[in-house]
Amino acid sequence: MNKQELEKIKQKALEEHIPIIMDDTLEVIENYLKENKPHKILEIGTAVGYSAICFTEILAEDGQIDTIERDSERVKEAKENIKKAEVENKINIYEGDAVEILPTLENKYDVIFIDAAKGKYPFFLKEALRMLNTNGIIFADNILYKGYVMSDYNKHKQRTAVRNLREYIKEVKENPELETKILEVGDGLAISKKIQN
Ligand code: SAH
Ligand code: MG
Repeated sequence: MNKQELEKIKQKALEEHIPIIMDDTLEVIENYLKENKPHKILEIGTAVGYSAICFTEILAEDGQIDTIERDSERVKEAKENIKKAEVENKINIYEGDAVEILPTLENKYDVIFIDAAKGKYPFFLKEALRMLNTNGIIFADNILYKGYVMSDYNKHKQRTAVRNLREYIKEVKENPELETKILEVGDGLAISKKIQN
């Protein structure tokens, strides 16, 4: 990967207020995966490709990343960025709404990174569980949504998102196939490992 290009992509995304993965969140994910490099990663929410490009660093030699984005302008920019970072052979973008695309996928993944519409997290979880390999991990970003998820006052605007993020947390915690940790890193990160049973 071209590190200089990556830094430029990051700065431009930050300037444009695109909610790319935070440094500390990325570090936690990288530490989780460096011993056991994943072969297949699925990302929900590409934006301009920043996190997907970062994940190529922790991917197994012959690994592949599939990533989904519905905003066509962002898809276009992501493709340009992926090219600049010289990782076109490792990242495949599905353009469209993840709610429609996920049910059409039949692949198996070692890692699934959920980082899109907060109101859809329970749906994304259901689809992720269907495609996750044993010992695979689901990371869900923004799970604490600026602290709203753990506070009892929420503005109308955030209510649906907060309800669905709470539902996600409840489901991963209650699922006997998963071992889950919620970290306060970044905007909150849920880490759920599918254990053998
Ligand atoms: N993972 C990126 C940031 C993603 S920001 C990074 O860290 O670099 C969230 C993205 O999800 C936005 O670009 C938004 O357009 C996209 N998104 C939101 N809901 C979606 C959906 N239902 N289907 C596909 N993409 C979605
Ligand atoms: Mg995020």
